[in-house]
Amino acid sequence: MIGVTRDTGPLAVRIASIAERVERAADAAGRDASEITTVVVTKFQPVELLEDLYSLGVRDFGESRHQEAKEKAAALPGDIRWHFVGQLQSKKARAVREYASVIHSVDRISLVDALASDDLDVGVFAQINLTDDPARGGVAPSGLDELVESIQAAPGMRLKGVMAVPPLEEDPARSYARLRELSERVMRAAPTASAISAGMSGDFEQAVSAGATHLRIGTAITGERTRGA
Ligand SMILES: *Cc1c(COP(=O)(O)O)cnc(C)c1O
Repeated sequence: MIGVTRDTGPLAVRIASIAERVERAADAAGRDASEITTVVVTKFQPVELLEDLYSLGVRDFGESRHQEAKEKAAALPGDIRWHFVGQLQSKKARAVREYASVIHSVDRISLVDALASDDLDVGVFAQINLTDDPARGGVAPSGLDELVESIQAAPGMRLKGVMAVPPLEEDPARSYARLRELSERVMRAAPTASAISAGMSGDFEQAVSAGATHLRIGTAITGERTRGA
């Protein structure tokens, strides 16, 4: 239940501390922190934790698995914006649209086709794979233009911009600089698609420096996940 007496003090402290770091990173980059949305990634976390985050004012939640996200969306208030950030199977695409405001992981044309709909409106990010491993989520940079075109042509979808998870083997600042260049390339074809979804617990300051507008922060706010990754 919302409003029951759990000690949300430590969570409130972590939220405030991340907000302050985002603000400092924005200042250092000559940016306005108000243009940056922090999505709190709550995958594998219990509903009670999401209720606590909600009671502390969080309205942007990120989830990466459909079944879990669907159950949480049903259990929590309707004014939450659900951000789907995980790999998405085409056969689950339409079900995810039922609750998601934003899908950060659109990475292939078959998924665009599965998500397209005349009567819904969803914001999407084109997820880019910055590694050489095709098994990782995201479209290869060489396929990005074609993916962007298909999103622009699809009904019921607004292209917000680009998203990536930085490769483990590279300095995140370099990954995010590459993402920024790809964002600029996308904006030549889609001038309003200026958002960049980048930045996790360990590297969000570098992402802010590189222009990220949507940070996806999990453990630095929630504490450790009990399972999964
Ligand atoms: C889990 C996850 C995050 C958050 O990671 P943390 O290191 O916990 O901040 C961000 N983006 C995606 C796509 C994720 O799956």
